Amino acid sequence: MMLTEAAKKMPEHISKVIVLDPNQNCSASLVGAEQIIADFKNKDAIIQLSEKVDIITYEIESGDSDVLKSVENNAEINPSPETLKIIQDKFLQKTFLQNNNIPIPDFIKIDNIEEVIEGLKKFGYPALLKARRDAYDGKGNFKIDSENEIQEAYDYFKGQKLMLEKFVPFKMEVSVIASRNTKGEIKTYPLVENIHEKNILRQTIAPARISNNVSQKAEKIASDTMDVLKGAGVFGIEMFVTQNDEIVINEIAPRVHNSGHHTLQSGKTSQFEQHLRAILGLDLGTTELSYNTIMYNILGNTDFEGEYEDIQFLEKNVYLKMYEKKISKPLRKLGHLNLVGSDNQTVDELLDELSHIKEAVKVKSIWLVFMLWIVKSDMALKAAMVLAGISIVLLVLYGADVAVSMGNADKEGFLPLNDMQRGMGLGGPAIVLPIIAFFIALREKSKGLGGLIIVSGILIIAGGLAMIGTPAPEGVERNPLMLFAPAIIQLALGSIKIIKS
Ligand code: AMP
Repeated sequence: MMLTEAAKKMPEHISKVIVLDPNQNCSASLVGAEQIIADFKNKDAIIQLSEKVDIITYEIESGDSDVLKSVENNAEINPSPETLKIIQDKFLQKTFLQNNNIPIPDFIKIDNIEEVIEGLKKFGYPALLKARRDAYDGKGNFKIDSENEIQEAYDYFKGQKLMLEKFVPFKMEVSVIASRNTKGEIKTYPLVENIHEKNILRQTIAPARISNNVSQKAEKIASDTMDVLKGAGVFGIEMFVTQNDEIVINEIAPRVHNSGHHTLQSGKTSQFEQHLRAILGLDLGTTELSYNTIMYNILGNTDFEGEYEDIQFLEKNVYLKMYEKKISKPLRKLGHLNLVGSDNQTVDELLDELSHIKEAVKVKSIWLVFMLWIVKSDMALKAAMVLAGISIVLLVLYGADVAVSMGNADKEGFLPLNDMQRGMGLGGPAIVLPIIAFFIALREKSKGLGGLIIVSGILIIAGGLAMIGTPAPEGVERNPLMLFAPAIIQLALGSIKIIKS
């Protein structure tokens, strides 16, 4: 999405963006990209894409590097498929870095459980058993703390290709967004500090709260890494700072990176523009940080999955970017905000400001929002809601009553099917339709509420009328007025609500 937005600002270089994405109406298509709907690994779709464009790039590393390699004659591909292939496999990636003298934690390849046992003797506890491929957000890691956990850890990965890595008791997780253009020019953004929650990036602090010495060392390692990687583009290089200020690379992402989102506001060249400049062979933009900035990810609440309340936040130094994803899932990345410091605002002051903002950008289920809204609404609306509730209860009671009387009617010789239909006609819709109306009320907010009140009122009147025309079962007394009174009040309140909204 953000790459497409950056591309749209460069019409002199990019005439059209075509995106391959399996999700219909994906975020990029919503901001002007033409979309091919297919899996990232779909060979035909990749070929089709390569025939339509001059340059292919990617912002997710799960494409098929072999297929990409096979279409290199149709379109220029950056970063190169060879680099993608190396990065996709954590073991190949670490081996490549090791061969190029780039610092990394100790690691070994694992083909069987005996090798895990041997490796642990060498590295000690804890150590991480890692899936080599398709592992992200910590999902492919198992931390082994003791001998007892070896079997569990090994079984956890069920036949996947594995590696074992020495645990790094880091004092900070950091990253460098680095770029290299097709002419070989390399630039790195200043070192940033990353804070994770449940293995997912939650917040990036730019610049990292660490000495200049360490920052420079990290930026140099990033630049050396770019020197040896083939192809052009922006890369996110994640690193650990050890207790004695050494730097080791954790992993590399061959794409624009979440920890680089701060660049949308913190400096002159965003990582998205930089990536496009790199693959187009343009001079790279400046990477200086103009303002201290904190990027805070808006993640799906762990309590629910479903539609969520729109997040709006109006503060002049807060830049909120939502990715237009309709459904929230636990810890799903739904957007981010950049909290941008003024000229001399320190990172600590920004962190303090952020602590007051977090609650306002919490992802809330629309059900929760609905409940809060009822609590906050004025007295008339509260009364209407109470009446709607009472009416639904009455309908449930009378619906059952009618069903009983239908049963009696059957014994007296009425057609069972018709009776059934009549019973359902009262009991079913009377309960289901107000629920549907509730949903409409949630989506359309105030107008929908008026609709809900009116629909439920009409149903109750219909129920009352149907009851008048149906003989009451023995011993049951009916008073349809009990239904009509709240129903009429509901119709009045519903109409007032619609007129007012
Ligand atoms: P990964 O998915 O491999 O990037 O790892 C996810 C998280 O696991 C990292 O952000 C670290 O917090 C942690 N982690 C990964 N590798 C190591 C390691 N060798 N030592 C300590 N923590 C690690």
